[in-house]
Amino acid sequence: MKIVFAPRESDPRETRAALTPDLVAKLTKLGLAVKVESAIGARAAISDEAYKKSGAEVVTDRSAAQSEADIVLRVRKPASKELATLKPGTLHASFLDPFNEKELLKTIASKGVNAVSMEMIPRTTLAQKMDALSSQANLAGYAAVIIAADRMQKILPMMMTPAGTLSPAHFFIIGVGVAGLQAIATAKRLGARVEAFDTRPVVEEQVKSLGAKFVKVNLGDTGQTDQGYAKELTPEMLEKQRQGMAKACSQADVVITTAKLFGRPAPKVITSDILAQMKPGSIIVDLAVETGGNVEGSKLGEDVITENGVHIIGHENIEGYYANHASQMLASNFYNFIEHFWDTEVGDFRYDLDDEILKGCLLTRDGKIVHEKFMDI
Ligand code: NAD
Repeated sequence: MKIVFAPRESDPRETRAALTPDLVAKLTKLGLAVKVESAIGARAAISDEAYKKSGAEVVTDRSAAQSEADIVLRVRKPASKELATLKPGTLHASFLDPFNEKELLKTIASKGVNAVSMEMIPRTTLAQKMDALSSQANLAGYAAVIIAADRMQKILPMMMTPAGTLSPAHFFIIGVGVAGLQAIATAKRLGARVEAFDTRPVVEEQVKSLGAKFVKVNLGDTGQTDQGYAKELTPEMLEKQRQGMAKACSQADVVITTAKLFGRPAPKVITSDILAQMKPGSIIVDLAVETGGNVEGSKLGEDVITENGVHIIGHENIEGYYANHASQMLASNFYNFIEHFWDTEVGDFRYDLDDEILKGCLLTRDGKIVHEKFMDI
């Protein structure tokens, strides 16, 4: 019987768990023996007892469990020392940050570990159920609105009372991918007036269908990649974008920035000129802060207040803000991935390298880097 093991995350900032009790039960039904490290769910309000009840063995010796495991699931990329005890041929699935972690990738390959990078799962309809970037971005978009609402000195909906009428809060969402769409929907549900902008023209319809207003900025041909990602703008286009968005920023009570470029640093869509035009007490939540930030001066893990009183929130690991649900979704993505490739007759993971999903996310195999994007590193 093959063994799957999920360790407790070693990064103290990480709140999520790679497996939750529901998914443990589903993995055991596939015929896998499941082990989790004690306290794996401590920061997501899931007890060891709950894992035991669902059929997992709860262990305390991470190294021993890793050395016996055929599949290891973790949220964050492994530290080099965590790779030491993995046996060759182990399937290791996690976020890997492969564009910035070339040395780590080489080390993983040299250990003979077969690494799956969750951020490389193709953004296709078939792979949606394993798409961890989307499941976590959805929660990030939601959390950004709730965090902003909590910090504001205003309420979100219009309120008509004998003491007067309060007008609805103005939200401006920059970047309307998965997180941006969820941010729009959440802010609308709470009664805010919402505007949004994205460089991909196809997004306009989606923004309107959520009852928000699309801010039009004519940037010429921006296009998108085959995977549906935004292309990098030229410096001139980016400047045009900033000028086109300045009015919406100056009128906003909350700006949520989610503008990202896959595998590259985030574009600076809000500069100090725009910040200077914003209202005192207005809030910016920079969801791209982990990849360099969309806002000049935003800091990872810190709140910054500008001279004119704009609060810039650079929340760390915002995906894990609602750790219980984030873990549930992530564990579901991991399960769906394993289940998709599980050969029930043989009782093992099927390395079907003709499969587009596996080809997209398997980075190392049998001692070599096998993904075309990382062959030359
Ligand atoms: P992302 O996190 O990479 O980027 C967020 C958004 O920022 C994107 O909408 C992007 O266009 C936008 N952006 C980039 N530069 C910008 C700039 N200068 N100004 C404003 N916005 C900018 O995106 P994502 O949420 O991962 O989604 C990427 C694409 O993948 C989208 O088209 C999404 O619909 C698609 N997708 C498809 C599936 C599927 O079919 N299964 C699943 C998930 C996502």
